[in-house]
Amino acid sequence: MNKVAKIAYFSMEIGLHPDIPTYAGGLGILAGDMITSAADLQVPLVAVTLLHRKGYFYQRLDHTGWQREEPVHWVVADFLTDTGQQTSVTIEGRTVHLKAWRYDVSGDGGFTVPVYFLDSDLKENSDWDRTLTHFLYGGDSRYRLCQEVVLGMGGVRMLRELGHNRIERFHMNEGHASLLTLELMREHKEKAGRDFFAPEDSEAVREQCVFTTHTPVPAGHDKFPLELVDRVLGDREACGIHDPICHEKRLNMTFLALTLSGYINGVAKKHGEVSQNMFQGYKVDAITNGVHVGRWVSPPFAKLFDRHIPGWRQDNFSLRYAFGIPGEEIWAAHHQAKNLLIEHINRETNAGFDRNVFTLGFARRAASYKRATLLFKDVQRLQKIARDVGKFQVVFAGKAHPEDEGGKKLIQQIVQMAASLRQDIPIAYLPNYDMELGQLLTAGVDLWLNTPEPPQEASGTSGMKAALNGVPSFSVLDGWWIEGCIEGVTGWAIGEDGRISKDDGDGEHDADSLYKKLEQVILPMFYVNQDRFVEIMQAAIALNGSFFNTQRMVQQYVLKAYFS
Ligand SMILES: *Cc1c(COP(=O)(O)O)cnc(C)c1O
Repeated sequence: MNKVAKIAYFSMEIGLHPDIPTYAGGLGILAGDMITSAADLQVPLVAVTLLHRKGYFYQRLDHTGWQREEPVHWVVADFLTDTGQQTSVTIEGRTVHLKAWRYDVSGDGGFTVPVYFLDSDLKENSDWDRTLTHFLYGGDSRYRLCQEVVLGMGGVRMLRELGHNRIERFHMNEGHASLLTLELMREHKEKAGRDFFAPEDSEAVREQCVFTTHTPVPAGHDKFPLELVDRVLGDREACGIHDPICHEKRLNMTFLALTLSGYINGVAKKHGEVSQNMFQGYKVDAITNGVHVGRWVSPPFAKLFDRHIPGWRQDNFSLRYAFGIPGEEIWAAHHQAKNLLIEHINRETNAGFDRNVFTLGFARRAASYKRATLLFKDVQRLQKIARDVGKFQVVFAGKAHPEDEGGKKLIQQIVQMAASLRQDIPIAYLPNYDMELGQLLTAGVDLWLNTPEPPQEASGTSGMKAALNGVPSFSVLDGWWIEGCIEGVTGWAIGEDGRISKDDGDGEHDADSLYKKLEQVILPMFYVNQDRFVEIMQAAIALNGSFFNTQRMVQQYVLKAYFS
């Protein structure tokens, strides 16, 4: 039984299933978690994305640790249903035909949310147009802009073809979907029987649109040269693109969405503030991200929660009662999750991990601001800690964007570090970080490490997955961790005195703080005062698992953005 859809959620990437490679990282996984929680909560929502027939990419690491990318081969029809529905958009004066595939996400009450995947690989289209829905974040800016036309404009048209005529809110998950505003503008103009835009068109579109920004640095926002925009869309003014959304002779997708949305939010409190400063003149609220508990709780913890907190899947707030679970049972469940991970690491990499040794995990996009190599700032000090205080081993994972040489170098440095430290500190780099590996890692390590340069981590969600599985975070205070960190209770902050890092960029201070706490607080607690360590695991679930989930997040979108 489905209700008439009222909300349409647009995202360039959506991660629904480990074998559907239509996501690159956090943004897509968030979208998948959000959609699944919307289905659980019976929010009448539909979602739109692109098919990405060749995925983001499959990551292999060669023997020198250099990343090689391969297209992902997946059989679309094994996972998605052909709706038989078609629509088209105009790109560079050509008609580009699109069809829609469908995937139904079922909530735990049986309510389903359909996700539509747009596909331009049809024989009616030119060879180049057929590739437009092949690669996520591939190609040059022309390819990217054309993809955004398909997503934003094609997406709205497809929804109309599919009979979704009572959508009240169009939610743009990041600026890639901003062009949907222009399609809505066109609808209002046509409905009014005018051949020009009137102020009431943008008023009406603002009533309809919700925009979530995810990027705390201006350089991260999608921008396209105006000549390219004119070439791809035709006369931009005829499309409703006017001055305030064009900066420095470029169409800025973030400003397009900001200008035409009635509700705008960042993805954590701090990110909301940073965005508000960046976008003065717009009102920017904050809704902190979350993760879907059913998708990220490991099987051992799911069993544990079933025993002690019945109904935890339907009511995530009840995870607060993790305080009542006996510590030995938390420890035992954690050990099962840890064993699964250690077996996987040893089988895949022969790194010789030991299940009784303290294990740190670090998995994220290999972008330079995430500072994956901060741990190795002072290798001798690190070796001394392992020797004098307690053994530890470190597992890494993460992809670099194919064009990001710097990110690939970071991966290579870690792989080479692993070889040179092999005697003292076992280190593994697991290739092809995806949802499945993400689950294994966040549940199986003893400590989740995160070292971004503030304020560049808008939110981050992997630490939330860890918390749900009783794994504390050890992180720079940025993104969600500013809200989630209670020092010595839910985990630990990297940075002096638990204050937001004032590091001057070389990482010296943050690295020093990292070593100090690892040496003086965390390792001794793990090896000598295990009961205290288990209390922290328990608080991570009770205080953070119960809040940093998409059930709470979707409820906030419902309250503040969807039905207000
Ligand atoms: C959760 C997850 C992410 C996002 O985590 P961050 O904390 O934002 O880095 C990225 N990739 C995968 C595969 C994930 O599971």
